[in-house]
Order: sequence, then C-alpha cells, then structure tokens
Amino acid sequence: MRLLVLEYFLKQNSALSLSDLESNFDYSDRTTLFRTLKTFEKKGLLHSINDKHTTVYALCPDDCSEEQHVDSHIHFCCECCKKIFCLPTVKKPNVDIPSDFEVEKLDIIAHGLCKECTKFR
Ligand SMILES: [Zn+2]
Ligand SMILES: [Zn+2]
Ligand SMILES: [Zn+2]
Repeated sequence: MRLLVLEYFLKQNSALSLSDLESNFDYSDRTTLFRTLKTFEKKGLLHSINDKHTTVYALCPDDCSEEQHVDSHIHFCCECCKKIFCLPTVKKPNVDIPSDFEVEKLDIIAHGLCKECTKFR
C-alpha cells in the first residue's frame, strides 16, 4: 500500500490532497491513506503544504530526512486547475518574525496560472 502511494506521487507533477489519493485508491479507506501520508511526512519523504482549507502533500527533495525537513522552496497554486506545484529552485526569503511568536512552519504560496493553464487562456 505505502509503495503504491509513493509510486503515485512520483508520477505526479503537482502536489496531492487526501481526496486526490482517495479517488485514485478507491479500495483503500481514508484513515489508512491519511496515516500513510503522515508516516511519509515524518520520514522526510513528503512535505505538506497548507493552502486555505486544504492540505496537500508533495515529495521532498533528497536532502530531507527523518526528523529533519529542509524544504526551503516556495509553492505555486494555480487558480485555474487548483493544482499546487513545488518550485524547488525558488528559495524562501528570510523573514524576520518577532521573537515573541514561535514559528512552526512557514509556507509561501504564489498564486496565478500554471504553464498548462496559460496555454488555454
Ligand atoms: Zn521535506
Ligand atoms: Zn493550472
Ligand atoms: Zn514543495
């Protein structure tokens, strides 16, 4: 099961949500899939991206490991097809958060149209 999920991720060029996986693996239940995603995230294979109300998952670069995610790239959300892409070559800028706030995770998401959708505009 886990291997299938990972293979499916490898075939995608965009991030996947739990519902995406659910519709692809209809013989598997949501809880199992969710647990699989969480395990992968912990192992440094996938990272999650939160956008508004959805959480999507994408494969990590090779240098992520268990307990230590080093994902420092930003993401792109296409307003047309709603897909979320990793932009591995675009690094997050350094942001200064006041020290009385504890940052757990910093997501930077650019919004616009992806390559495919610009074609049909
Ligand atoms: Zn990672
Ligand atoms: Zn698009
Ligand atoms: Zn990413």
